[in-house]
Amino acid sequence: MDNEELTLFRDMTRRALEQEISPNIEEWEAQHMVPRQLWHTLGQAGLLCPDMPEEFGAAGTTPQVTFAIIEELSRMGFGGIASGYGIHSNIVAPYIEHFGTEEQKAQWLPKMVTGEALGALAMTEPGAGSDVQSIRTNAVKDGDEWVLNGSKIFITNGMLADLVIVAAITDPGKGAKGTSLFIVDTTLPGFARGKKIEKMGQHTSDTAELFFQDVRLPASALLGELNKGFVIMMTELPRERLGIAAQAVAAAEGALDITVDYVLERKAFGQTVASFQNTRFTLAEVKTEIAVNRAFYEKCAEAYASDSLSAEEAAMLKYASTEMQCKTIDQCLQLFGGYGYTIEYPISRFYTDARIQRIYGGTSEIMKELVARSILGR
Ligand SMILES: Cc1cc2nc3c(=O)[nH]c(=O)nc-3n(C[C@H](O)[C@H](O)[C@H](O)COP(=O)(O)OP(=O)(O)OC[C@H]3O[C@@H](n4cnc5c(N)ncnc54)[C@H](O)[C@@H]3O)c2cc1C
Repeated sequence: MDNEELTLFRDMTRRALEQEISPNIEEWEAQHMVPRQLWHTLGQAGLLCPDMPEEFGAAGTTPQVTFAIIEELSRMGFGGIASGYGIHSNIVAPYIEHFGTEEQKAQWLPKMVTGEALGALAMTEPGAGSDVQSIRTNAVKDGDEWVLNGSKIFITNGMLADLVIVAAITDPGKGAKGTSLFIVDTTLPGFARGKKIEKMGQHTSDTAELFFQDVRLPASALLGELNKGFVIMMTELPRERLGIAAQAVAAAEGALDITVDYVLERKAFGQTVASFQNTRFTLAEVKTEIAVNRAFYEKCAEAYASDSLSAEEAAMLKYASTEMQCKTIDQCLQLFGGYGYTIEYPISRFYTDARIQRIYGGTSEIMKELVARSILGR
């Protein structure tokens, strides 16, 4: 898509989201869950997995279009839905497209495009978050099948997912070199969901604990090569981090927009809040920080499009953009005074939705470690 087409597409997306999500967002936020139907609706609107190949019923666009949808969801203050959407369209579908067999693609991608199948990615365990190499979930070969045992925590879309890509040990004692990925159909016996994990924000993305007890997987459930799970995860991480940066930059832009509207209206000491020098400087700082991050995000998105986004750049981008998101949204909320702290004003949702961005997809500290390693070589 050229720039003009992308602008038209963004407008169309915003109209669809305005119609399908805006009237319901407060109810869904209160329920801490979106209805399963939302994913069918987004599928019908052609908004799920747009960059998957046309042969699977998708639009066959570039990933730029998927990033644009993540941005519009985030800009409108639907941070939780943006996360669930990102996992489904920006992570799970590309994993299958890039590493799946023709049979796996034919089985899952058409349903992911329509919303009939919702995807999740399960790496984290109670004892292994940043240190993913310490996972204990394991799969043991038994005849033609794999037997999967273990548990995962904090899995986005976990309550509703129809397929979960699960990282499991297949060669014990070899750490990263003994880890494989499996596509787990959640209707299989032995798969169970724990209770929904209650969070401080992103209420419209459900987060679950998942359990696998002697889940018998067919040989065809293995995603990519045996014991190459880590290589696959590392290959896909730059795209995942680009998606998180898309959320960060667009959410900050959306927060700034509603803040400008508010300070122009709100009066104190006989003048608008916008007229105070502090407000003017804060808005100037926020706008500048967003612009700097948007420029780096777009540079990284272009690098991804030409297959040249490095792991270090993606880590720098994730770190910088999510720290900027939290800082600028906090500055915006301050300009709302007490109203900013109430759930009646969406700025409070921008604020609570932002906080996790510095933690999932690799914490800011882990991003700094990755960048430092690229500088020092160790
Ligand atoms: C809402 C939500 C959604 C999530 N979605 C998913 C999902 O869909 N799939 C999935 O697999 N996971 C998911 N996660 C898990 C998330 O990726 C992890 O929480 C994250 O990677 C951090 O792991 P941890 O929570 O175990 O923290 P820990 O690893 O225990 O970290 C604790 C603290 O120690 C710091 N730390 C750890 N190691 C180092 C180090 N080497 N150097 C310096 N500091 C360090 C961390 O930065 C952090 O500040 C989600 C989490 C949440 C809360």
